[in-house]
Amino acid sequence: MTNLQNRIIYHCDCNGFFASVEEVFRPEYKKVPMAVAGDPETRRGIILAKNELAKKYNVKTAETIWQAKKKCPGLIICKPRYKAYNEFCERVNAIYGEYTDLVERFGVDESFLDVTNSLHCFGGDPLALANEIKERIKTEIGVTISIGISWNKIFAKLGSDLKKPDAVTVITKENYKQVVWQLPVSDLLFIGRNTTQALNSFGIRTIGELANFDEEFLAKKLGKAGRQIYKFANGQDDSPVKLDGEYEPVKSVGKGLTFKRDLITERDIKTGITVLADSVAARLRAAKMKCTTIQVSIKDVEFKSIQRQKQAPVPTNVTTEIFNTALKIIKEAWSIGKPIRAITITASNLLPENMATVQLSFFEAPASADNTKAENVEKAVDAIRKKHGKGSITHASTVNNDIGAGGSHKEE
Ligand SMILES: [Mg+2]
Repeated sequence: MTNLQNRIIYHCDCNGFFASVEEVFRPEYKKVPMAVAGDPETRRGIILAKNELAKKYNVKTAETIWQAKKKCPGLIICKPRYKAYNEFCERVNAIYGEYTDLVERFGVDESFLDVTNSLHCFGGDPLALANEIKERIKTEIGVTISIGISWNKIFAKLGSDLKKPDAVTVITKENYKQVVWQLPVSDLLFIGRNTTQALNSFGIRTIGELANFDEEFLAKKLGKAGRQIYKFANGQDDSPVKLDGEYEPVKSVGKGLTFKRDLITERDIKTGITVLADSVAARLRAAKMKCTTIQVSIKDVEFKSIQRQKQAPVPTNVTTEIFNTALKIIKEAWSIGKPIRAITITASNLLPENMATVQLSFFEAPASADNTKAENVEKAVDAIRKKHGKGSITHASTVNNDIGAGGSHKEE
């Protein structure tokens, strides 16, 4: 059994991960300011990652392409290729896995490693081992990482942010008051915008001020979370690094329907794909996955079919997002009015939900706030359906339709 008081935990964070992967494929991108960003044509066009040169122009993650280009007119924009990032993520984690079986993925490009019980096999020096891992990732995979080392996950995570790229930071029981306590409270994991505002209103600005505040007052004002963050600020976090689970048991999720009558109008099509998108999204949520690619196949009355696919603007398991992308595909690929006999929507290039969510959670852009809200609403719907049956909640637009969509349709 691990002694919780003396754990050695690494938090490994790839630097500008998506941009670094693009540079591996196209080394010429290293010489120009470059960023990976969502669909430039939509308002969702936000910077997902930037390279070192773009950083010099102060291009920031989560700002819009428009904002970034104002600062850096020559900025090269790459579309995200989640499949490639997923593959790199697997390779990076495979290297981590050579040093411990306690590897917990945290976001698409971050992992916690607990090396307490394996360190002695690799020389016994936490800093030297971290440097070795960092160098291997750089030479074997081509991306740089930063590592935070501490006795708990909270400070390890904080440490990996302090020096980057390509650096290691050690936060010990001896130095944490100097290193951590001067930082703003918002640097602490799980302290978001609202909590920061609340803490500021109590006069707490730094992690040190939080650590030395009245725990009971915080518990009274902020509930359980108040006590929790007080403990975190003091380095009291016993949460274990979980064993690496099996990721991606599901490769794709699809749902198809042959309608009772042909779909003719845009309204027919919308009703049909609402039901399909709803089913696909619910199944993604049940599998704790998000998709990055949406495919639609349409069959006409002569049984001829076409297939088209599109990238989702952000990884998603939300009905309306899948619906919107599917509708966009159909509008581009099909002349509305031409009868449709059957439609299938398939979600693929799946990411584990926590990977996708953590990656996006620091997007404080309104778009993602809406997204989180939609996700929460749909999770509540899932819970009600689980309790009261699949038909207990349906979309208003699908009620009493005559195309055979909704209710207890059969899976195809
Ligand atoms: Mg990162």
